[in-house]
Amino acid sequence: MTIYQNLIAGEWVGSDATENINPSNTKEVVGLYANGSATDTKAAIAAAKAAFPAWSRSGIWERHVILKKAGDEIMARKDELGALLAREEGKTLPEAIGETIRASQIFEFFAGEALRLAGEIIPSVRPNIGVEITRDPLGVIGIITPWNFPIAIPAWKIAPALCYGNTVVFKPAELVPGCSWAIVDILHRAGLPKGVLNLVMGKGSVVGQAMLDSPDLAGITFTGSTGTGKRVAVASLEHNRKFQLEMGGKNPMVVLDDADLTVAVEAAANSGFFSTGQRCTASSRLIVTEGIHDKFVAALTEKLKTLVVDDAMKPTTHIGPVVDERQLKTDTDYIEIGKKEGAKLAFGGELVTRETPGFYLQPTLFTEATNQMRISREEIFGPVVSLIRVKDYDEALATANDTPFGLSAGIATTSLKHATHFKRNVEAGMVMVNLPTAGVDFHVPFGGRKGSSYGPREQGKYAAEFYTTVKTSYTLA
Ligand code: ADP
Repeated sequence: MTIYQNLIAGEWVGSDATENINPSNTKEVVGLYANGSATDTKAAIAAAKAAFPAWSRSGIWERHVILKKAGDEIMARKDELGALLAREEGKTLPEAIGETIRASQIFEFFAGEALRLAGEIIPSVRPNIGVEITRDPLGVIGIITPWNFPIAIPAWKIAPALCYGNTVVFKPAELVPGCSWAIVDILHRAGLPKGVLNLVMGKGSVVGQAMLDSPDLAGITFTGSTGTGKRVAVASLEHNRKFQLEMGGKNPMVVLDDADLTVAVEAAANSGFFSTGQRCTASSRLIVTEGIHDKFVAALTEKLKTLVVDDAMKPTTHIGPVVDERQLKTDTDYIEIGKKEGAKLAFGGELVTRETPGFYLQPTLFTEATNQMRISREEIFGPVVSLIRVKDYDEALATANDTPFGLSAGIATTSLKHATHFKRNVEAGMVMVNLPTAGVDFHVPFGGRKGSSYGPREQGKYAAEFYTTVKTSYTLA
C-alpha cells in the first residue's frame, strides 16, 4: 500500500506509517499515512520560517491564483473527496460531500479576500502628519485540527493563514489524515512555493507537543478538546505567542409552547443527531416548556424511529457510526451515567450491529433530565441528548445560559418578542432561530464565548483578526 507522506520544505517524506481505519467497517484500511516525529516537526517549522520572508511579501495575485485553483480542484473532486471523508470519519456521504463543498467555498472566499487586502489612512491629531493603519502577517502559524470536520476545519484555518501572507505547519487529527493530505497535495500542486505549507501528520503528544514547545511559531490556531486547548494556551503564553482556541460546547436548543412542532422537531433531530452528534455546534440540551413538552417528546421520538444508523456510504443511512472505539466508550459511559443520575431513557441507548463491523450507536434521548446532571453539563460529543422540562421562557433562558460553554444556541418559537429577547440575551457566539444549532455559513464569523472559545473569530473577513497583526505608521509630510 502507498504511504501518504508528510510535506516538509516542499518534499514528500516519511516511511513510518499508521493505518487510517474506516469506522463503518473496521476491517477496511482507508490508507497508510506517515507518522511524523518531533524532528520532522522541527524541520517543518524551520522550513516555514525560511519561507516566510518571501511569502509575506508575495503578490496578492499569486495568492489569489493558488487559493482559487485549490478551491476549484476541491469542488471538481467533491464526490471523491466526500467519499474519502465519509470513509475515514463516518459522517454520511451527503454530509461529507456537503463539507467538501464548504471547504471549496472557503478557499474561493479567501482567494477573493487576497485581492481585497486594504488599510486605512487617517489624519494625525498633529499637523502635517499622516497615519497609516495596515495589517502584517503574523509569521509561522501552527494549525492543529480535530477529527470531526476533516476537510472544512483545515480549510478554514489554512486558507486565511495563506491569504494574509503567513506560512504554515499543519498537524491534522490522527484519526482523519486523508482529507488533510489531499488538500495539502492540492495546494502544493497549485503552486505554493516550498516551505509555505508544511504537513506533519502524527500524534498530538509528539507532533502537536513539538509545535507547542517551539519558540518559532508566531501563532497557533487550535480546534479540539478543552483539555488540549488549555495546554495550547499555557504553552503559548510561555512563548508570548498569539493563540486561538475552539473547544467544546453544550449547546442549548429551547422549544417554546408556541413553536411550530414540525420545525422544532426537525431542528432538534438535526442538531442533536446528524453527523452522529459529533459537531461542536450540536445541540445536546433540549430545553422545552411545559405546554409543548409531551407533544414534542412524542414527535421527536417518532422521528428518531425513522433514522437509520448504518454504514456512512449507504444511500439509506441517516446517521453514520461513531468515529472510533474510544469515543464510543465515552458515549456509552455517559449513557450509563444518565441512567444512574435518574434521567429517563426515552429512546436508543443501545449499540447496533450491521453487516460490517463498525461503531454503531442508536440516537439516544434522555427525558426528565435536569440541567445539573453530568449528561447536561459535560460535552459528550456523540448522539446523546438530554431533554430538560422547564416552566416558561424565563426559566428556559436561564437554563440555556447555565453552562460553562457558549458556542451556539437555538430557539424554536413563533414569538418575535421571545426570539428577539433570546438573540439579545443568550450567552453564545452564534444564535439560531427556528434552525438547527449546527450548520453555519462559510463567509460569516464562527466562534463562541465562555469555555467554548478563546481569541478572535474564525471565518469570513473576521479571520483577519487572528492571522494578521496591526501596524500603525506615522509619516511627516
Ligand atoms: P479529541 O479528544 O476530540 O481528539 P484533542 O484535543 O485530543 O481532541 O485533539 C485535537 C487535536 O489536538 C488533534 O490534532 C490532536 O492530535 C491534538 N493534540 C492532542 N494532544 C496534543 C498535545 N499535547 N499538544 C498539541 N496537540 C495535541
